[in-house]
Amino acid sequence: MNIPIAKPFLGKEEADAAHKTILSGWVTQGPKVAEFEENFAEYVGSKYAIAVSNCTTALHLSLIVAGVSEGDEVICPSMSYIASANSITYVGATPIFAEVNQDYNLDIESVKSKISSKTKAILIVHQMGMPADIDSFKRLSQKHNIQIIEDAACAIGSEYKGQMIGSHSDLVCFSFHPRKVITTGDGGMISTSNKKFKDRLKRLRKHAMSVSDYERHNSKEILFEDHLEIGYNYRMTDIQASVGIEQLKKLDFILNRRREIAKIYIDGLKEISCIILPKDKNGFKTNYQSFSIFLKKSSPIKRNELMKILSSKGIASRRGIMNAHLETAYKQKKIKLPVSENYYKNSIIIPLYSSLKNDQIYYIINEIKKLLIT
Ligand SMILES: *Cc1c(COP(=O)(O)O)cnc(C)c1O
Repeated sequence: MNIPIAKPFLGKEEADAAHKTILSGWVTQGPKVAEFEENFAEYVGSKYAIAVSNCTTALHLSLIVAGVSEGDEVICPSMSYIASANSITYVGATPIFAEVNQDYNLDIESVKSKISSKTKAILIVHQMGMPADIDSFKRLSQKHNIQIIEDAACAIGSEYKGQMIGSHSDLVCFSFHPRKVITTGDGGMISTSNKKFKDRLKRLRKHAMSVSDYERHNSKEILFEDHLEIGYNYRMTDIQASVGIEQLKKLDFILNRRREIAKIYIDGLKEISCIILPKDKNGFKTNYQSFSIFLKKSSPIKRNELMKILSSKGIASRRGIMNAHLETAYKQKKIKLPVSENYYKNSIIIPLYSSLKNDQIYYIINEIKKLLIT
């Protein structure tokens, strides 16, 4: 056995679509990007979607349109991929790290305790695809008149109170990195139902040009562009978008299979008393972008040892979600977040992807049981 941690679900459909786009002669920020955006917005249930180069740039632009800048503070979890904190640093603001709860998502009491006169936004992360409690953060942000931004990098297809992530607030950022649920190689998307945000986001991703290349190309008149503010090159290519269009068609299948695999894992592993498994709460439906296992103190072996032995059996695993405040880039701040640190140090992520076979899943379950049931 040689089981990787993840595998993108790409096939002939994506290859053919990319091939056609390449031969069409229009390869970036053109008709395929527009079509992908339209399909994406329809899927998640927002009015608009804006494609960008990745989720980190989606977060960067979202913070800009939310009006976050130099000297401001944005509350976010430390327990997240470092891109969440970095995007805040890019605009000159300070990430204020709050604690997480048992779902590895922001703890609202911890967030409340960190709100100050400088707080401009709360960046909530749907960690590993598990929805955060959006409504309670919305109420809190309305009370303090601050913006909510959702880092939904991992959460395409996850649902909160019966609706897709992407439909609940006005700046929701997704990733199409191969480690996420669908992929365009690299790629990102912002969903919004706010027209002002949409217009500015579309501008900022292409150096704030007043007229797009596509509009200019299709115009009978000669159009001259102006650059209305300082923007960025955060475009998505049409080659990526044509892959994304095909991936979106497969998303329901991918989600079903992921949830099926998670169920087999949960049924197979639940008799192990020294671990905590992910669990859907009422009204919260995850896509299982990652399947994480937390090792309690009673575990007969430590996390790193478990990873080492699994690796020797051909099973890849990863450490739990990192804590940005423990990474060298943010360490100088000397912050202590005991809950986040405990989850990070004592959890592992095991393989979960749609082409994982049932016999591989049972093999993984049995190997873990051998190590953790004594
Ligand atoms: C992957 C990830 C990102 C970054 O996404 P990219 O598309 O690679 O830039 C941001 N936030 C979280 C929570 C992620 O998991």
